Amino acid sequence: MPSTFDIPNFPLGRREFLHTLAAAGAAPLARAATRPPNIVFIYCDDLGYGDFGVYGSKIPTPNVDRMAAEGARFTQFYSANPVCSPSRAALLTGRYPTRVGVPRVLFPTDTTGLSLSETTMANMLKSAGYATMCIGKWHLGHHPEYLPTARGFDEYFGIPYSNDMTPRPLLHNTEQIEEPARLETLTPRYTEQAVKFIERSKAGPFFLYMPHTFPHIPLAASPRFRGKSPLGLYGDVIEEIDWSVGEVLAALRRNGLDSNTLVMLSSDNGPWYQGSPGALRGRKGSTYEGGMREPFIARFPGRIPKGRVCRGVAGTVDILPTVAQLTGAPLPKAPLDGIDIWPLLSGQKPALEREALLYFDGWNLQCARWHQWKLHFARFNTMAYNPAPQGGRVNLALRPPELYDLENDQEESYDLAAEHPDVVQEIQGRVERLLATFPDEVKKAWADTQGRKTQNIPAGALPRPAR
Ligand code: MG
Repeated sequence: MPSTFDIPNFPLGRREFLHTLAAAGAAPLARAATRPPNIVFIYCDDLGYGDFGVYGSKIPTPNVDRMAAEGARFTQFYSANPVCSPSRAALLTGRYPTRVGVPRVLFPTDTTGLSLSETTMANMLKSAGYATMCIGKWHLGHHPEYLPTARGFDEYFGIPYSNDMTPRPLLHNTEQIEEPARLETLTPRYTEQAVKFIERSKAGPFFLYMPHTFPHIPLAASPRFRGKSPLGLYGDVIEEIDWSVGEVLAALRRNGLDSNTLVMLSSDNGPWYQGSPGALRGRKGSTYEGGMREPFIARFPGRIPKGRVCRGVAGTVDILPTVAQLTGAPLPKAPLDGIDIWPLLSGQKPALEREALLYFDGWNLQCARWHQWKLHFARFNTMAYNPAPQGGRVNLALRPPELYDLENDQEESYDLAAEHPDVVQEIQGRVERLLATFPDEVKKAWADTQGRKTQNIPAGALPRPAR
């Protein structure tokens, strides 16, 4: 019987070496020999691309700005979907939400959540010996088998879905400790939990996933922040999140963990009624850039160069494969949509060659990005132009599709499809190949959209909105 010290006599990468040790039941030894980095992911809810100071906001966010100055800031980082639940599903699986059973927002009436066959980033890191905790809004299923404690997290503290849903329980693991959760207490209590988790897990490695409840509405800030911002309650809320980021970073520093912890910060989708998408078009619920392009900051002193601004295309689907590579944790068996973006984070490369990035809303694939180009295939109608009896929200094909050059037109204002038929064809071919790999619901939604009757209405012939 081989001992845990029997190491195969061929060259192994660090990752294979750790796998070999883990397979032999020697994970603690591996950790002691080469401790992998701690992972912290802070996720805001409905925070827009333009809502941090370093991204152009007037709201002061000194801690977030300092984090960006000490690490890397991305300008083209995407969620996989413009609403809450699917974005989280993509982050935690490295796969498009339409592959993992979460195409849309989940409600308290739902009985399912993230497909139980999926391996989460927490499962992945736990199998590599990490202590894991989720603090905040989960939104991937609230029945016990879907809660964080059943999806790879040792511990959970937070509300299981959005703060505008009823009921609004605060859970510790699977136990309800408050109902309704007192909104103004959440950011400080999440922060306190995060600091305590860091302190008791410092022997490491650990994974802290911290999805904030705010700035999703209804907004609330603690007495310390409420009424302080000249920009109103939204400003108070953002300043409190910024404070929280500062507290997490301070806890890492205080515990000597700075140089061995990758801290990431982003948002699940664009701003809703308040907040700013910066100069981007669209907001939450839209596959225009403002709905899906998010701030993304990553800090890892000594590993990520200070003050780096990365303009390469990346997204939440890339976090799991990147973390797997960094930590040596075993990748899930399911094929991933994301790629390892460490060459972007570390500054080895300015951009990566990758497959077209897809923009979903529900089961509907509406856009695809490839290089600097974004092709819009379909878009939801607006209610105003879709009166009864058909009514409702209908996904309508754009005939012909619209092509935007995001390097030169990030506002998506100038359709260049007629000038670049080769690019349109290239992206259409990529999307058709990708579609074949998706569940039937995606293919059906695509076929339904393409088969739906639409007509081009000449400009100027549109009905004038009622005043
Ligand atoms: Mg959200």
